[in-house]
Amino acid sequence: MKKYSVGVDLGGTKILIALVDRNTGEVICHIKKKTKKQKGSENIIKKLVEGIEELFAESKVSLNDISSIGVGAAGQIDRVNGIIIGAPNLDCFDLNIKQVLIKHFNLPVFVGNDVEIAALGEQKFGAGKGCSDFVCIFVGTGVGSCIVKNDRIIYGATGTAGEIGHIIVDLNGRQCACGAHGCLEAYASRSAIETRIEGALKKGRKSVIQNYLEPGKSITSSMIQKSIEQEDELVLQCVTEASEYLSGGIASVINFINPQLIILGGGLIEAVDYFYQKTIKKARAKSLPVPASKIEFKKAALGDYSGVIGAAFLEERVL
Ligand SMILES: [Zn+2]
Repeated sequence: MKKYSVGVDLGGTKILIALVDRNTGEVICHIKKKTKKQKGSENIIKKLVEGIEELFAESKVSLNDISSIGVGAAGQIDRVNGIIIGAPNLDCFDLNIKQVLIKHFNLPVFVGNDVEIAALGEQKFGAGKGCSDFVCIFVGTGVGSCIVKNDRIIYGATGTAGEIGHIIVDLNGRQCACGAHGCLEAYASRSAIETRIEGALKKGRKSVIQNYLEPGKSITSSMIQKSIEQEDELVLQCVTEASEYLSGGIASVINFINPQLIILGGGLIEAVDYFYQKTIKKARAKSLPVPASKIEFKKAALGDYSGVIGAAFLEERVL
């Protein structure tokens, strides 16, 4: 077996590229590139190729020791042909990333989505290690999830299974970015909390979070955490409301799929323990008694690295 693989996590704000030891899951070397301003297929390809070349130069590893390159992107993916069908956050559409990378590096290339690679990372070396039956849920800008059953990811008929963010929690509710009304994502994501806080501030409510805000910049998970530490009434109210909705969505997943374990990750879960604790307590209370009695909850264990580690193991995935 070749010793290393390259894992790439292609996100809306950054590309993280890592050389991963295939035996231990250890990240040997990593390169980070910002994608915030220059997007579009050509820019993304340029940064990706440059980044992988830098990774090889810096780690001084021989190409003969590399098994494959795995790429996970936030968007809709054709896994069989290695095409990014649509990644609005990267302004990439119909990009055959597999072809491009094979041409540049002459290595096998595997492509998946961002939630799938994070779940694979957690399954191999993180909170899902040793568990064959779990659901990973990531809460940040949106709410994404991945279902693992009998050690295999469930993709569904069109490869889009696990879209927990678009479970409808309010029939006449807020409009979601997908066009529907009342999706979980419009209530339980960091962006949803941000919209609630900003709306209240505009109406004249006061909050300590105002001390951290910068014009034109988003409310971050760490600003939310700092405000909760100071028991800020408005932020506590908005976060509690979001956990009410998220726990409802998770209880539906528990009742419907009956997993052994739910792994929660993403920026908001990592930074705000209050949100995590409230959500898991309420999710258990809202589930049916039998699945609720057995369900286990864990926080994702690999942080920012779960995606690159998982991407490095996309070659083992069974489609
Ligand atoms: Zn939606």
